[in-house]
This record gives sequence, C-alpha cells and structure tokens, in this order.
Amino acid sequence: MDNVHVVVRVRPLIKREADSQTGDYWKVLDSQTIASLSETQGKRYTFDRVFGCIDSTNTVYENVAKPIVQGAVKGINGTIFAYGQTGTGKTYTMMGSDTTCGVIPCAVKEMFDYMNHEPNREFLVRVSYLEIYNESLSDLLRSKGKKEVLTIHENEVGRVYVSNLCEELTNSYDQIMGFLREGEKYRRVGATNMNDRSSRSHTIFRIIIESRANDEEGTGVVSVAHLNFVDLAGSERANQTGAMGERLKEGCSINASLFQLSEVISQLSKGAEHINFRNSKLTRILQNSLGGNAKTAIICNITQFDLQQTSSTLKFASRAK
Ligand code: ADP
Ligand code: MG
Repeated sequence: MDNVHVVVRVRPLIKREADSQTGDYWKVLDSQTIASLSETQGKRYTFDRVFGCIDSTNTVYENVAKPIVQGAVKGINGTIFAYGQTGTGKTYTMMGSDTTCGVIPCAVKEMFDYMNHEPNREFLVRVSYLEIYNESLSDLLRSKGKKEVLTIHENEVGRVYVSNLCEELTNSYDQIMGFLREGEKYRRVGATNMNDRSSRSHTIFRIIIESRANDEEGTGVVSVAHLNFVDLAGSERANQTGAMGERLKEGCSINASLFQLSEVISQLSKGAEHINFRNSKLTRILQNSLGGNAKTAIICNITQFDLQQTSSTLKFASRAK
C-alpha cells in the first residue's frame, strides 16, 4: 500500500572488514531490486527502493523520510523504522556520523524550516525518547532524574499513551540534538560475541507536533501529529550470537517483538481490517501512529557479504510489503 514504504539500504564495507572480506553474496541490480549471487540461482527481491553502497544518507532521507516529515508538519502521523542485524548501519542511518547528517537530524532541521514557512499556523513541539528492553520501558530523557515506572494506558477515546513519560517542550534544532545525545548515553548496550556494543533494545524517538491556525479568536482546531523514529534492536537471532542466560532472554524478546512488528506492518500493507497491535509493547505504543492515513517507512539495513542474516532481513522486508 502507498502509505507503507519498505526500502533496503546496503552499507559499504567498513575498514575492519576489508581484510577478512569473503566476497559478496548479494548484488544490487537496479534501484528496486537486489539478487542473491549464491543460493537458489539468483533469487531476486524487489522493494520500493534499494539504496546501494554509494547512496548517501541524504539520498535515503530525501526519498524515504522527507515526505513523512512534510506530512507530520501538516498533521499526519509518520513513523520511520531502522531494521537490521547489528552493525549494518541502523544507528548510522538514523543518527548520522561525524561527517554525515542522519535521518533524524535532517528531519528536525527540515521540520523547523517547514514550520517557518507556515506563518499562519502556530506550532508547539515536544519530544520524548523511550527505550524498550526485554519488554520493559525506560525513559531516556529522565535517566538522570527520578525513575518513574512507565506503563502503557489507553484512554476512553482509544488513545494509547505511556504514563510518566517525559515530554520535553522545545523550539530549536540544537535543543533536540541535545536531548538525543543525552538519551543515547543511557541507551542500554550489552556485549555479545557478534558485536560488543550491539544494541539490545528498541528506541522510539518521538516528535509531537501540535499546530493550530493562527486566527484572531484563537479558536482554530488543534491538530496533533506524532513523528516517530524507531531504531530497532539487532535482528540477529539469539542462538547465532552465542547468547546464554540474560542475553538469551534478550534475544527471545527481541525476536518476538520484531516478529510482531512484521505482522503488524504486513497487515497494514494489506489494508487488513484487524491489526494485532496488542501483541508487543513496541506495536502497542505505536498503535495510534500507524494505520489510517499515517505514513510508515522501514529502512532495512544489510551488508552484501553476509548470507544468512541478509537473507533473513530481506525476508522480513518482503513480508512487510
Ligand atoms: P547498527 O546500529 O545497525 O548496529 P551502526 O550504525 O552502528 O550499526 O554501523 C556499524 C558501523 O558501520 C559503524 O562504524 C558505522 O559508522 C558504519 N556504517 C554503517 N553504515 C554505513 C554507511 N552507509 N557508510 C559508511 N559507514 C557505515
Ligand atoms: Mg545501533
């Protein structure tokens, strides 16, 4: 469906891999197709877009995120997910690096630009930053202060919200970047033998855009849009990272929530009548932001020199379509 975009981003070889390079398993055929070079005689996968190694984050932003940001300023909910195995570039894509602007900073910058070009509307912007780890929630913007218990509630008109989650009022790019940095410091990281800083939790960075026509009486209707940026936990399976005990438990809960996410996205793509938002905290929290006229994009991050994990990510991505 038009409101759900599934794209793939191939990350280039990074320095530490250059020596141990074993050859490519995948080839980008064109801007929508990627093919397997090994198993099953060149099985092909087609998506809304496939970004190759040379495509910049800015290109990804322009194609995938920009329309969602434009919609959000007009009151339409939007969500952008980064999916993929640990180390494939989820955080690089979302947050950027020393030399590149990530999807979130680019979006925040443009959001304020759009607002400045709407002199007849008044805007109120708030942000929240939530982490889901083993199906339990933490507030990344209140990690220094008093810890409140976060719980999911639904009000009488069906609006799902997280109680006690801090929403910071803001009106500047710099301030939002500050919140992001602060939150990122507290994001839980655990060691597995696959990547010692692998992310074992999902994060939802949410921008809440409230706006109202700037008429004299001040009686304009208020519209509220949620713009969510979701950096998902690594999609590698628990047993493939040699996980035990606590790590294994993490792996299971990550698998379960990613599975539920793919269910929900595929139901949305098909325009299903009933959507199973309730089966995981991730989908439950995003319930009001997905579906209806909301815009959703999933950026599936892969590498060309991995067979198994890339194959599983492409299968996830195909299911989501
Ligand atoms: P993830 O968040 O999926 O675990 P990261 O975003 O941390 O992965 O990326 C892993 C490493 O690869 C980082 O060093 C990052 O800078 C690098 N990287 C990821 N994507 C790209 C890219 N498109 N171009 C260059 N380097 C990248
Ligand atoms: Mg990451």
